[in-house]
Amino acid sequence: MSATLLWFRHDLRLADHPALRAALTRDKPVIPVFLWCPEEEGEWAPGGASRWWLHRSLTSLAKDLEKAGSKLLIRQADDSLAAIKKLIRETGADAVYWSRRYEPLVIERDRRIKETLRTENIEVRSFNAALLIEPWDVQNLSGKPFQVFTPFWRKVSASIEPPAPLPAPKKISAPAKWPSGVKLESLDLMPEIPWHEGMARTWHPGERGAKEHLETFLEGPVKHYGEARNLPAQSGTSRLSPHLHFGELSPRQVWHAAPKWRSSQFMAEIGWREFAHHLLYHFPRTTNEPLRSDFIRFPWRENTRELAAWQRGKTGIPLVDAGMRELWETGWMHNRVRMVVASFLVKNLRMHWLHGARWFWDTLVDADLASNTLGWQWAAGCGADAAPYFRVFNPESQAEKFDPQSEYIKRWIPELSGEGAKSYPTPIVDLKASREAALAAFKTLRK
Ligand SMILES: Cc1cc2nc3c(=O)[nH]c(=O)nc-3n(C[C@H](O)[C@H](O)[C@H](O)COP(=O)(O)OP(=O)(O)OC[C@H]3O[C@@H](n4cnc5c(N)ncnc54)[C@H](O)[C@@H]3O)c2cc1C
Repeated sequence: MSATLLWFRHDLRLADHPALRAALTRDKPVIPVFLWCPEEEGEWAPGGASRWWLHRSLTSLAKDLEKAGSKLLIRQADDSLAAIKKLIRETGADAVYWSRRYEPLVIERDRRIKETLRTENIEVRSFNAALLIEPWDVQNLSGKPFQVFTPFWRKVSASIEPPAPLPAPKKISAPAKWPSGVKLESLDLMPEIPWHEGMARTWHPGERGAKEHLETFLEGPVKHYGEARNLPAQSGTSRLSPHLHFGELSPRQVWHAAPKWRSSQFMAEIGWREFAHHLLYHFPRTTNEPLRSDFIRFPWRENTRELAAWQRGKTGIPLVDAGMRELWETGWMHNRVRMVVASFLVKNLRMHWLHGARWFWDTLVDADLASNTLGWQWAAGCGADAAPYFRVFNPESQAEKFDPQSEYIKRWIPELSGEGAKSYPTPIVDLKASREAALAAFKTLRK
């Protein structure tokens, strides 16, 4: 008996799946497997909202595999390598294929697995299923990684020719006997307290949901993306981020589905996602440390009460609270508002960006170590191509500019439109004084 193990990770789809395609060309049974080993990802193991998404996405993938005559084998393990070796013993598999991931701990783990299995004569191959270009295939004129977005994207968008996406296979050959697996429910990915109802109303995880979502976006909203993308009250952006994160959709599919929009602002945002992965790969320490090392000395404040007010959307600053409530309710927040709430936390409250990154990590359905790290370091002024520290977003003028009718604010803070306005908290900080304190703290770095 011999077979190919196809290890599903952040590539939860059947179309445009190079590892699956390569596995099928071996003419041997394919055993699709998902391993749940969150401890291996350390402090950046999937958070609550991601787990909810994963549960739904795996359900969808399992159904699609069944339609193709296969199934998804699920196992829980403390150690992926041991789990794969066990499966090899049980199935006689002689090859293991997977799609690459770029998080530092995952890279280390995968490298170890690859080396060990190869010494045991197992064929191991990894594939690019998540990016338009691999982070090691692009460098600036001095041969170094890019740290500024515009030249990065100029170079990448002009030089790439991503291959046309592969169609989903109709049939996946199954082994004569399936090894045993566990039920998805036993992974306990669904929250015990039902705080996920708003997310369930908002999203359709899975490959089909992703495809439909992309089609709807390309039929209409993409045309107005340039003007609408900054207005949080409108559905002006694609909301593809969780689908892209879990690999229910590939950036190659987006690139080929939208040939007219290749030099658009929308595609440049897909470029930011590429840039984030480029940075994470080349500067892996940035998940927990500032890219600009002078920021290690920054005098951050600690205040549990204020942090809780920020997390719960009770700071008394309407645009900040609206964003934090949207996040809690739907697992997503508009990009403009993400920048505003992040600036408020790191500048007005002067709290470490990691407090914000960790909260986003637990509550975002699109929590992604590359994009979240970039977003927070950008907001704090300590990352690549970052907003300078002295540029402090004023949440009131941001609201006047981007939510002029307060439509977004009233949607998420209903008490502001009715009698209940008295129950809305007074601001926990003075915006002007806290801005000045932040600038003074910033000056200490120059000494
Ligand atoms: C503090 C902060 C934290 C963030 N954390 C995350 C995160 O954990 N996961 C995440 O996917 N994005 C993150 N972002 C980036 C951005 O806010 C989201 O990608 C975007 O809001 C998703 O909505 P959309 O799909 O409608 O985006 P669209 O505007 O339709 O953009 C299309 C796609 O491009 C990518 N993209 C867009 N903007 C960015 C960006 N600034 N950086 C990287 N990729 C981008 C996303 O994959 C997105 O789906 C963060 C931004 C900030 C300021």
